[in-house]
Amino acid sequence: MWLRCGRTSNYFTSFSCRVFRSRLDVLGRRGCKTAAFMPEAAGFEGVSSRSELQELSVSRSSSSFWAAVARHRLSWISPFTTVQDCDLSRGRIKWFEGGQLNVSVNCLDRHVHTCPDRVALIWERDEPGSEVRVTYRQLLEMTCRVGNLLRRHGVKRGDCVTIYMPTCPLAVASMLACARIGAAHNVVFAGFSAEALSERIRDAQSSVVITVNQGVRGGKVTELKRTVDEAVQSCPAIRRVFVAMRTEAAVVMTARDVAMEEEMSTEDAVCEPAAMDSEDILFLLYTSGSTGKPKGLVHTQAGYLLYAALTHRYVFDYHDGDVFGCVADIGWITGHSYSVYGPLANGGTTVLFESTPIYPDPGRYWEMVQRLKINQFYGAPTAIRLLLKYGDQWVKKYDRSSLKTLGSVGEPINTEAWEWYYSVVGDRRCPVVDTWWQTETGGICIAPRPSDPDAEIVPGMAMRPFFGIKPVLMDTEGKVVTSNNTSGALCIAQPWPGMARSIHNNHQRFTETYCQPYPGYFYTGDGAYRSKEGYYQITGRLDDVINVSGHRIGTAEIEDVVNQCSAVAESAVIGISHDIKGQGVYAFVVLKKSADAQESDVSRQLKEAVSKKIAKYACPDHIQIVKRLPKTRSGKIMRRVLRKVVERELDGLGDLSTLDDPAVVQEIIDGHAELLRKQQSQ
Ligand code: AMP
Repeated sequence: MWLRCGRTSNYFTSFSCRVFRSRLDVLGRRGCKTAAFMPEAAGFEGVSSRSELQELSVSRSSSSFWAAVARHRLSWISPFTTVQDCDLSRGRIKWFEGGQLNVSVNCLDRHVHTCPDRVALIWERDEPGSEVRVTYRQLLEMTCRVGNLLRRHGVKRGDCVTIYMPTCPLAVASMLACARIGAAHNVVFAGFSAEALSERIRDAQSSVVITVNQGVRGGKVTELKRTVDEAVQSCPAIRRVFVAMRTEAAVVMTARDVAMEEEMSTEDAVCEPAAMDSEDILFLLYTSGSTGKPKGLVHTQAGYLLYAALTHRYVFDYHDGDVFGCVADIGWITGHSYSVYGPLANGGTTVLFESTPIYPDPGRYWEMVQRLKINQFYGAPTAIRLLLKYGDQWVKKYDRSSLKTLGSVGEPINTEAWEWYYSVVGDRRCPVVDTWWQTETGGICIAPRPSDPDAEIVPGMAMRPFFGIKPVLMDTEGKVVTSNNTSGALCIAQPWPGMARSIHNNHQRFTETYCQPYPGYFYTGDGAYRSKEGYYQITGRLDDVINVSGHRIGTAEIEDVVNQCSAVAESAVIGISHDIKGQGVYAFVVLKKSADAQESDVSRQLKEAVSKKIAKYACPDHIQIVKRLPKTRSGKIMRRVLRKVVERELDGLGDLSTLDDPAVVQEIIDGHAELLRKQQSQ
């Protein structure tokens, strides 16, 4: 597959031949450069540049691109027989069928064979300066012990294990152990409440949970085992709870609970990997949609792993020996794809960050970059905006010369934050890659890199589609917009290996949400602008999903909780711009006539309820008690009006003629002004 570079034939002697030869040389060199960039390119006829590689990956020959990449980058137990069998209009997505592999073997064993003592994980513990390094050999052993432990306790191929843990090596080993024995994992962000956890355990039909006694983050201890105890009370199917010890504190253990490290130590350090079909489930990951019920997106084995590995390698320009620092929590898709699967599939060294950007002080990230010599740093705009406010001195105090690429993910990065990231953090040396993607896409779909090495990067723009990604914009009539310098609903025109395959237990919801709005296309739920140069910029969600500090939450989920409070008749929740979090939560609440509670008490109760039933990050920042909500004559809440009021765009309220009673708008405007006055005087 590898093409030898730099050789030309002796055949060329005449002048014309020399001219011809020099042209061939140029093409050859370009081809060689492309092959040096991506070895598989050597096998692609007529591809001599990165843009041609991109074109091939979305052309009719896209299967040959993906076949070569899958053969080259994954280790197969048995080779695949078909590359893709997809029909987006029907929600059928299948890649590399006939093939069998084991994801944990791809992430561990094959690197243990070549470089067992290479560091796989650097666990940046909450306690500053106390990092723990785990080699590939150690991680494989840990994974095998967990795999054997799970098997001994009856976990079988096809089961689903819920993992409720902070970001730590044992959490990674637990994910990989599931992959090893053929079970799916369902990692639930350890900031979710007991109710949110139990809903996800039940929906995933898990009979086993893995957790820790306590979590530690930002110097604060959280009682994770206690939360699990509470959650499983309403999960009768739970047979076992494995409890690892993050701190010294003893916790109450019942007959159902297993002391994880203790039992692991008696397990064999070798665990036979299951031969998994490409399309078997690797994991479920719950995310918010526009209804009150979170959806468990289904990702499968080969396509997901390949896509995570390829994007990790090329978007961040990751090379052997680099230290990759993704600071996302493993409870989100970014943690799955870029703390765990992408880097480990590539044999990389990946940092697991357990802390917060400001603990013990706002220099935490950069002190860590200096100490661990991080080469690629991948974080969220919300943290960048927060740190920017603390000033440059916290950054400049530390040596950041190891940094080569800076990444941003989770929400749009505003120009001010982008510039600060680029010039202060990266000293104007490192490309900033604003990466657009989502839980559904499995990996990065639009990012400034890979592109030609000196290709421009426009601040705050994700810009260029990744290999295999064909973005399109749709107009309001559902037609593809072909011109540039225009906006529309962002869809992806053809399937790619990393995309989610389904919603657990509800394939119909999957097709309705993603495949039917624009038949034949994958609908992302985001809006985008395409510049006159053809670059993409994400403009935000088009549905009732908001993005708080890079965490997705459906407004309907919050409304469900608010409406359950005894004093509340109805509510409408919207997102509001927030200078640190990107978006905050604004709740309009109508109280029952009979309710005689003080407004301040109601606000407190509602915040408590949201944090108890969902998570703290979903708590409303503002609660405005109103007499009624603006509704159309058919009873639909006009959220557009609410959004315009809170964003103070009163000139843009638009057509109010369909409102049942237009007078309600003035009430809302007055109430909003009053709330602001109160908040400012506090
Ligand atoms: P999640 O599935 O939780 O990762 O959230 C995905 C959503 O976050 C997307 O649908 C976007 O709305 C938003 N998002 C992620 N990355 C970006 C980005 N680089 N620019 C703008 N929005 C983003």
